[in-house]
Amino acid sequence: MKTVILYSEKMRGYGFAPEPKYRGRKCDDFIRLFEEEIGENDFKVIEPREASTNYLALVHDIPFIYGVRLRAELGPEECVKRGLPVVEDTPLRQGIYEAARLVVGASIQATELVWEGKFNYAVGLGGGLQHATRNSEGGFCVFNDIAIDIRDLEHNYGANRILNLSVDLHANNGTAEILQEDPKSLKISIHRDPTDFYPHWGFVNQIGAKEGEGYTVNVPLPYRTSDLAYEHVLDEIFVPLAEEFKPEIIIVNGGPDAHFADEYQQLALTFDGYRMIGKKVREVANKVCNDKVVYLPGSGYNAIVFPYATLSFLCGLTGIDKKFEEPILLPKWLREIYDLKEELYLQPPEWLRKDNRFEEVKDVVKEVKRNLKGCWKCFQ
Ligand SMILES: [Zn+2]
Repeated sequence: MKTVILYSEKMRGYGFAPEPKYRGRKCDDFIRLFEEEIGENDFKVIEPREASTNYLALVHDIPFIYGVRLRAELGPEECVKRGLPVVEDTPLRQGIYEAARLVVGASIQATELVWEGKFNYAVGLGGGLQHATRNSEGGFCVFNDIAIDIRDLEHNYGANRILNLSVDLHANNGTAEILQEDPKSLKISIHRDPTDFYPHWGFVNQIGAKEGEGYTVNVPLPYRTSDLAYEHVLDEIFVPLAEEFKPEIIIVNGGPDAHFADEYQQLALTFDGYRMIGKKVREVANKVCNDKVVYLPGSGYNAIVFPYATLSFLCGLTGIDKKFEEPILLPKWLREIYDLKEELYLQPPEWLRKDNRFEEVKDVVKEVKRNLKGCWKCFQ
């Protein structure tokens, strides 16, 4: 048994209704598809525990943690009346504090199980809440589980080299800010160019601070970048950095909001692209860190894309010979949940080509290397 999935039905509580984008039930859809397509033969599914306050406090200040609990109990309307902070895209309501602690708990357990060698690969469903900063929620993220996992490994397990790869559509601003001075964690983020896009952070010249200089790596991609350009970025940036840094563990975050049919429609990965990323991570992890990989998929705002893209990544990561391709033939249960009439879904749009923006991305890669050549031998 080499792979574990941390999942609970209670993860449904992690959503931001009436905001329609962040749906809590997508983890359930993933598990159902996983059971139908793969089964539990080589996998174990474990119910996670809520993260304790001690864990949250590895990264967040205590007044913020208790403030989240209080503000969730009151709700956004009452918070406005009392002059308490309300972040528009991440409104805290009843139940979100507990659900957030559960998602973080899943992420921590996934990380610890892999670190301790109990499994090679672990999935913390719903995790990867990279926009939360030390003292603020934001971008659908309440607590930053990635930074907590990294601090947990450093403080409680003596880890010295942790690689965090973010393949989320959005830059990993919260994680990078919390850990900007930390040379024990190398944070690589591949994301949509933030010039005109949330979180308006994540440029090539933002490389970390003080001792952590060079340990923040940003790769901003142009609109509609697709699979081949991603592969180029991984080969030219992620692989050589991982080989030089020699991490003890790799933590990948990012659900499929970079898929071409995501509600954001900003980048253009396909299921095949997600599978390719998983495979690259597996090959690198096999070479540098005894196959220790944690995968935290939480984002992704097309309910049909989420289970298939997440499973595509997981198949690539674990070496399971299963491929999904768009358009996808949907099972009846999934069509019924989302009231879809068509059996075939996710028809690739005419503009989609696997080499979309490849030439421009080559230039971005050159710029990333130029900016970091003083920090990394592989870029000299
Ligand atoms: Zn995102």
